Amino acid sequence: MSSLPLVFDAPKRGLPPRHLADLSSDERAAAVAELGEKPFRAKQLSHHYFSRLTVAPEEMTDIPAASRKRLVDALMPPLLTEVRALACDDGATRKTLWRAHDGTLLESVLMRYPDRATLCISSQAGCGMACPFCATGQAGLDRNLSTAEIVDQVRSAAAVMRDGLMVDEAGAPSPGRLSNIVFMGMGEPLANLARVIRAVRRITDPAPAGLGISQRSVTVSTVGLAPAIRKLADERMQVRLAVSLHTPDDELRDTLVPVNNRWPVSEVLDAARYYADTSGRRVSIEYALIRDVNDQPWRAELLAKRLRKHLGQLVHVNVIPLNPTPGSQWDASPKPVEREFVRLVNAGGVACTVRDTRGQEIAAACGQLAAEG
Ligand code: SF4
Repeated sequence: MSSLPLVFDAPKRGLPPRHLADLSSDERAAAVAELGEKPFRAKQLSHHYFSRLTVAPEEMTDIPAASRKRLVDALMPPLLTEVRALACDDGATRKTLWRAHDGTLLESVLMRYPDRATLCISSQAGCGMACPFCATGQAGLDRNLSTAEIVDQVRSAAAVMRDGLMVDEAGAPSPGRLSNIVFMGMGEPLANLARVIRAVRRITDPAPAGLGISQRSVTVSTVGLAPAIRKLADERMQVRLAVSLHTPDDELRDTLVPVNNRWPVSEVLDAARYYADTSGRRVSIEYALIRDVNDQPWRAELLAKRLRKHLGQLVHVNVIPLNPTPGSQWDASPKPVEREFVRLVNAGGVACTVRDTRGQEIAAACGQLAAEG
């Protein structure tokens, strides 16, 4: 399959105007020159945005006022406005609902742990993948996010951490550093591949060209768009790939993850193997455990068998207890069933653990806050 179907890339509303964070360093220098400004102004602007994490013109005092206005008007249009931020886990988790320039809603979730701070970001507003157990999937795709809209979620969270607005393990607010990024908020990142790749570069380029987060600390997730997995691999980046498999058999996966009708399990796992071989990194397999749907012992055994065959040791399974949406027919598996599932996958020779499900009490399963908003 050479290209992705058009439906994956069919925004209903418009992307925001061009922003500094959409552009590479060279493109920024060219854009500044087009405005008749000195090339080094591009570096100054980048320093404010990516190193000082500010978008406030009044703080950019090293740029003369007239130039500042011209540059900010042209290259730093407002992107995201905070609608609300909800805290849970005693302040160690913070979920933010954003409104984009055209009213589009999106969200990100910041989670502070003793050894790291992880931000879960959205790559699309809504999602076109239609997984039946997911709140975002029910509402459909609103539009792709621009590169800068993806990056700006990270810039804001980095500022929240730096400014000491999150509590630490001692339960007190204190400054920290945003260390990890996961593309596991709203949307299918690989359905917005070109912008996601650019966003990863902005997030991981050393400051002041980018935000300076290590590529190894970035995870891109997918439901399994096999050709896009291969394209991402060919970027030769060090980001981790997470594949939301949710079941090892095509029969059930065709309904749980409808895109499986296009790229079945074996094609997805072959693409994942290509990614692992190219990047040298283990692939994460995400498995939302759903009561009486995909939690049977035989599925655990089949999962281990298929993963061993396709990925050998280059794989780790994350079991995610399903966060049920209100009124949904889908529910999490009972704990003994979950434990047995994990045991069987490990016994089958594949590393498997249960993922920490932070933020559940503020409905942090993907899309739920925006759905309520
Ligand atoms: S589970 Fe992920 S891919 Fe599926 S509909 Fe929800 S956001 Fe989209």
